[in-house]
Amino acid sequence: MSGHRLLTGKVVLATHNKGKLVEMRELMAPYGIELVSAGELGLPEPDETGYMFSENAAIKAVAATEASGLPALSDDSGLCIDALDGSPGLFSANWAGPGKDFKPAMARVLAEMAKRDATSPEQRRAHFVSALVIAWPDGHQELFEGRVHGRIVDQPRGTGGFGYNPIFQPDGHDQTFAEMSTTIKSGAAEALSHRARAFTLLAAACLRKPH
Ligand code: IMP
Repeated sequence: MSGHRLLTGKVVLATHNKGKLVEMRELMAPYGIELVSAGELGLPEPDETGYMFSENAAIKAVAATEASGLPALSDDSGLCIDALDGSPGLFSANWAGPGKDFKPAMARVLAEMAKRDATSPEQRRAHFVSALVIAWPDGHQELFEGRVHGRIVDQPRGTGGFGYNPIFQPDGHDQTFAEMSTTIKSGAAEALSHRARAFTLLAAACLRKPH
């Protein structure tokens, strides 16, 4: 017995972020899960008051399962930049402001790095983190975490995906996340992104392919 609980049927994705919904639908497709988002159901967005990605993910999943009566999956994620002492980190979404516009957020990242003279490859190190939590109406929870390391490029490149994709280049690749197809980012062959890596762990523990 693994002690994990299988996830089946209809599941709420506790997000109002369409980019996350697109990636998660692609990852979930083989497992026969019907994914509806909190945004589509008109559920309220709880305040993310935690001090860790995993805490904020749990807050969102619990709010969504309590509001819907369905199992809920949430992702709390962010970009942590070494030269900025881990910022924007938990505040990755906040840096984009209420309009969720990541052009100024990326410009702020590049400006803060320039202010600190962070020009060497070592100083441009960064990683994305994803904490995935599944919460059930009876209070059971599962947590899985994934990371991808890389660097912040000098100028945004590419248009794919969402958020900080255009300024992040994962180790071992010469394209930014925004220049890659979602299939490469989500990783049909090998999980590359932080979210896909966390999802690989989740799938092994809590999902089964229908026969
Ligand atoms: P959350 O919705 O509070 O978890 O905010 C996460 C934020 O981190 C997103 O709005 C993006 O700004 C950023 N982020 C997380 N994952 C990714 C990614 O895969 N690509 C680009 N930006 C991301």
